[in-house]
Amino acid sequence: MDTILVVNGGSSSVKFQVFAVDDNGRLRRQIKGQMDGIGSRPRLRATGAAGEALADRCYPIEAVPDVPTALMLASTWLRDEHQLRPLAVGHRVVHGGPDYDRPVLIDHGVIARLERLTALAPLHQPHNLAPIRTLLAKFPALPQVACFDTAFHRDHDEVADHYAIPRRLHEEGVRRYGFHGLSYEYIAKALPDVAPEIGRARVIVAHLGSGASMCAIHGGRSVESTMGFTALDGLPMGTRTGQIDPGVILYLMTAKGMSTAEVQDFLYRDCGLKGLSGVSNDMRELQNSSDPHAAFAVDYFVYRVALQAGMLAAALQGLDGLVFTAGIGENSVGIRARIAERLKWLGVSLDPVENARHSLRISRGDSQIPVYIVPTDEELMIAQHTLSLLWNRHSPASLKRERAS
Ligand code: AMP
Repeated sequence: MDTILVVNGGSSSVKFQVFAVDDNGRLRRQIKGQMDGIGSRPRLRATGAAGEALADRCYPIEAVPDVPTALMLASTWLRDEHQLRPLAVGHRVVHGGPDYDRPVLIDHGVIARLERLTALAPLHQPHNLAPIRTLLAKFPALPQVACFDTAFHRDHDEVADHYAIPRRLHEEGVRRYGFHGLSYEYIAKALPDVAPEIGRARVIVAHLGSGASMCAIHGGRSVESTMGFTALDGLPMGTRTGQIDPGVILYLMTAKGMSTAEVQDFLYRDCGLKGLSGVSNDMRELQNSSDPHAAFAVDYFVYRVALQAGMLAAALQGLDGLVFTAGIGENSVGIRARIAERLKWLGVSLDPVENARHSLRISRGDSQIPVYIVPTDEELMIAQHTLSLLWNRHSPASLKRERAS
């Protein structure tokens, strides 16, 4: 069976999914897995297409010292126990910089260019690239494709792409990139089928998960994003600040004597819902907590989502639809209702019954703005990109011959 392996390498975990490819190029998810606890308590878990457990095993810490080793162990497991040898591997890579506006087939030159972007995403880029480098060294003939979180936003108008800083900094890459692009691209492609009334219109997509952002989409194109140079900007997240006055950072460094590393750690790990509540970074836990600070953190989240929706509606010069996605967006009846309530002035009106049922269309029949829930699928997007790049280069028949030889 032909398969595509999708890999998402993190700092102490690697997530993977296997998609079967049929002769018409349709993809079917077969296996979902991850190796986490790398460097502490390595553990491989995987489930099959129906959610059945396929693996749950722990490894001694010294057997899995890093993410590339974890991916090699997972690949060995896929080969030995499921007889899977993927046609190609698609990787999620957070940063494609100013130049990559679409996925790319990886070679040594591409890796070198992506490594130069590490300064733009120091917490993610090295972990995304490490497994790519290892696979390229061990299996030079195995096609690998990099799919970028920034690519979908690359044709923003120039005014949306700039900060008000000297142009030389823009030229060296200090720009508003935007992230979660694979999620938004998946939804932009799905909308004409699942929600034809807004498929090509002016839509705000709210990707509300532990990482959270929103994107203004018009005619299937990204027009504006709440995230910018890094994935810190915009909405408050599980542990990340979201939008903050840069003066606060100057204050932390001068008045509090915090080092660059301390500030970085603070902004990425100690703020957002966790920092505000002092209770948890997890929306469900905050909603279940009786602590008033937890309730405040939820209020703040709702307020900021609605505030930034206003900004995106201005970028779109009007609004025709609203879409919720990701962990909070797909699952929280209460948060969706509260955000919609704040957007009443824009013409949003939810149907409480459809909202409680998590229906596809959750707005009232007479709502000026239709509201949808569209579950995102970044991995499927990566698998589709990987397959189409592969088929652009090689016919399915020649790929089969190459693998047989
Ligand atoms: P993600 O990063 O997309 O997996 O989303 C994770 C976030 O979704 C966490 O904050 C979870 O608490 C939140 N989440 C998942 N299910 C629910 C739910 N039923 N109600 C509220 N929040 C949820």
